[in-house]
Amino acid sequence: MADTNVTMEKLTALAKKRGFVYPGSAIYGGLANSWDYGPLGAQMRMNIKRDWWKQVIESRADMVGLDGAILMNPKVWEASGHVAGFSDPLVEDMETHKRYRADHLIEEATGESVDGWSLEKIAAKLAELGLQSPDGNSLSAPKSFNLMFETAIGKTEDSKESVYLRPETAQAIFVNFKNVLNTSRKRLPFGIGQIGKAFRNEITPGNFIFRTLEFEQMEIEYFVEEEDWEKQFEAWVGWMEGWAESVGIDKARLHRLEVPDESLAHYSKRTIDFEFEFPFGTKELWGLAYRTSFDLTNHETASGENMKYTDPNDGARKIIPHVIEPSMGVDRTLLAIMLSAYSEEEVNGDTRIVMRFKPHMAPYQIAVLPLSKKPELQEVARPVFEALATKFRTDYDQTQSIGKRYRRQDEIGTPYCVTVDFETVEDKAVTIRDRDTMEQVRVRIADLDTWFAEKLV
Ligand code: ATP
Repeated sequence: MADTNVTMEKLTALAKKRGFVYPGSAIYGGLANSWDYGPLGAQMRMNIKRDWWKQVIESRADMVGLDGAILMNPKVWEASGHVAGFSDPLVEDMETHKRYRADHLIEEATGESVDGWSLEKIAAKLAELGLQSPDGNSLSAPKSFNLMFETAIGKTEDSKESVYLRPETAQAIFVNFKNVLNTSRKRLPFGIGQIGKAFRNEITPGNFIFRTLEFEQMEIEYFVEEEDWEKQFEAWVGWMEGWAESVGIDKARLHRLEVPDESLAHYSKRTIDFEFEFPFGTKELWGLAYRTSFDLTNHETASGENMKYTDPNDGARKIIPHVIEPSMGVDRTLLAIMLSAYSEEEVNGDTRIVMRFKPHMAPYQIAVLPLSKKPELQEVARPVFEALATKFRTDYDQTQSIGKRYRRQDEIGTPYCVTVDFETVEDKAVTIRDRDTMEQVRVRIADLDTWFAEKLV
């Protein structure tokens, strides 16, 4: 069983020790809240994205993909409302001058969501509650702090043009709506999905990879007829919950939060936050929003380009489609998968840490472990590795005692270890050890391919 009491200290220590996640720029003293994904983290992120892309884009006739640029014309962010309104309410401790998210302080004090509240409403609530900073000092009035990172294109000071690093991937989908419609010939309902980096100058990043300045999103804009939105919204709720389970996110720790009307973003008629019980609190993992026709309408008005869809059954009928947006962070998904997979158990008086990853999410699916470094074992083990590695993610490890190597593979969540021993040389068979049950079976080398194809697909 997965361990629901795993602390962030335990998880981050394991992540660093085994090569999932390292603190960013560590040799220079680090850069606050930046992380680098090590060999295992990089592979898992790839597994998450590949599975998402396969399920959402490749397996569906009503979906296509897009890979938009990170830098876009700044007018995009004016039309989308980000320049004016993509901000967090910030308060300052009057003594220490540390800054805090006012909405988070209220949420922590009251337990209620303040998503979408105006600055005035937040100020009034802070006053009503008489909230102080975590250090016990008085707080300034809340101010808006835009989350977009600004940078400049151009070589000389006076020829510089300001641009933003995109704070979400979604806008590339909206500005390309007509391109995709015309080239893919899709009919409503249909969706466009995209995976890519996004950047937010978060005031209070933290909690490991939960909230970072740079992260990756997997976003879908699903275009529908207005009267169809509720049905399609429900379908995406089901899809998101199903995918969560399929990648190994613990169902018991995943909850739907129906964002109350008064907290909805101005463009949204309905939003569900999928929350996960992280060790630091129950927080948003993913979001699902009904964005009406807000974005396409704004881009049509601001750009002067026609964003309408022509009903193929009635050429005279032209509409701006409505949109359902499932928005998911790769980094938070990885964190939820790791927390769901972590387990500790007592084995012969020792603590065994096991990451119970689903095989398609695990960094390695198989580890080939020759019992010793003797050349006669390497000669047999190497070809076993080479054959398996063409089909499955396979590790090869010949150092340390076999017991320690099993422990290492348990900690990195490898479902199967293949041990090549001295008998292998004679009987052309190997021992396969199951990560979860620790049971061992003897299988002929010639049958490995079929054996694993059944277990790992
Ligand atoms: P939060 O309320 O936690 O700041 P949000 O509601 O602003 O999140 P969205 O704008 O809905 O987030 O972004 C969609 C998804 O992108 C989130 O559900 C999350 O998975 C991911 N995400 C957003 N901000 C960050 C961040 N700073 N670091 C890592 N992932 C993020």
